[in-house]
Amino acid sequence: MTKDKLSIVPQGKLTRACDVVTASLALGLYSPFILSAAIRSYFKSESLFKKEIALDALHRPVHQLLLRNSEHANIGLYLSVLRGQLSIIGLDRLPTDSRLVPNDISPENSKAAYPAGIFSLASNHRSIGLLGPSETLSLERQFQSLQGITYFKTLAKTALCSLLYKGKKLKSETSFYLFGLKIDNHSMSEAIDWLFDKPEQGCETAVFVNVNSVNLSHEQAELRHAINSANKVFADGSGVRMGARKLGIALKGNVNGTDMLPILCRQASSASKRLFLYGAAPGVAAKAADKLRKKYPGLRIVGVQHGFANTGNNDKLEQQTIDSINNSKADILLLGLGSPLQEQWLKRNRHKLKVDKALAVGGLFDYHSGNIPRAPLFLRELGFEWLWRLFQEPSKKFYRYVIGNPLYLLRLLRLKRQL
Ligand code: UDP
Repeated sequence: MTKDKLSIVPQGKLTRACDVVTASLALGLYSPFILSAAIRSYFKSESLFKKEIALDALHRPVHQLLLRNSEHANIGLYLSVLRGQLSIIGLDRLPTDSRLVPNDISPENSKAAYPAGIFSLASNHRSIGLLGPSETLSLERQFQSLQGITYFKTLAKTALCSLLYKGKKLKSETSFYLFGLKIDNHSMSEAIDWLFDKPEQGCETAVFVNVNSVNLSHEQAELRHAINSANKVFADGSGVRMGARKLGIALKGNVNGTDMLPILCRQASSASKRLFLYGAAPGVAAKAADKLRKKYPGLRIVGVQHGFANTGNNDKLEQQTIDSINNSKADILLLGLGSPLQEQWLKRNRHKLKVDKALAVGGLFDYHSGNIPRAPLFLRELGFEWLWRLFQEPSKKFYRYVIGNPLYLLRLLRLKRQL
């Protein structure tokens, strides 16, 4: 693809009309902020708007207006829409420190390009944590999100995610407390880097915190202590994102086991790191191991153990499992016993483990054995993967989601912003 051959696709009349109406409504809605910025600018003898040049996904300059002397500088972008410099939904305006967009555009799309948008599928993915703060989507994916009827789906997804997950003036703290749980604010790549770093001493552990673990630890102080004793606590899912937002914190990523495993396997096979899978019903971890070995050639899974051999806290059986993990010479242990068993198991046994890192991964082996299919992308893009899990196992997950989610939202309502 050569960028200079690309011409901007003239917006359809309908999308342009939508843009003009939305931008006018937004400017009307924000008029009190504009008025107060105008007064401040008048007294400072400055112009109301400042011009700025950003780059879009095709690395074209995007001339945009920002409101001066206001905490809501982005209001100016709606004026850029009226002037035809931006659309409401379009190609990504690249984050300042973004990596280059892969050159993967297909021949049919290579003749055309869309305008940059205030919002885009990529900005939507960043807001939900499917992308890190400096990442963007492939051009192909961005083009697809703007074609025909998909444009309106992207518009709906973006509007819903802005409402639920975006926040003004959010800070990027490195860690924070949410309902007594200390959460590390990491992107997926930082989490992976940590996983492959040499431990400072002994076995280092990590757990993922989601709405279910927050709810459970509310009732069980022991689980709360077990989570807080882990070396890393990753923020998993949209519920924790909403909690962080309430505290005034922008999460760097949605660090969940399902998205982490493919990256982990690729890196483990290139770095010759050995994995041990412990947990799930008999046969499930072994099936997941077979599938992963096929998918990631060179991946060394040196042991599997199902998660129902040790029910009833039998010390001898627990020691046997630890011995087989240590004897396997694994570097990384993936522990899928579900909450609160896995967090407590790690707290109890980490000092006996000879692996570098141990990670509590919940029902991950069920997904990777193919026993339970992963949620479709559109649900993940909205942060509604839990709906899919409820649909998969309605009776098992009823309390967790149908009771647990509203309970969590109620707790969130009472949570005070800290920053
Ligand atoms: N599990 C286990 N041993 C037990 C209880 C549960 O290995 O004594 C497994 C269970 O088979 C499932 C996982 O732990 O694979 C828990 O999955 P769930 O979806 O509840 O966990 P989440 O991913 O939500 O933490």
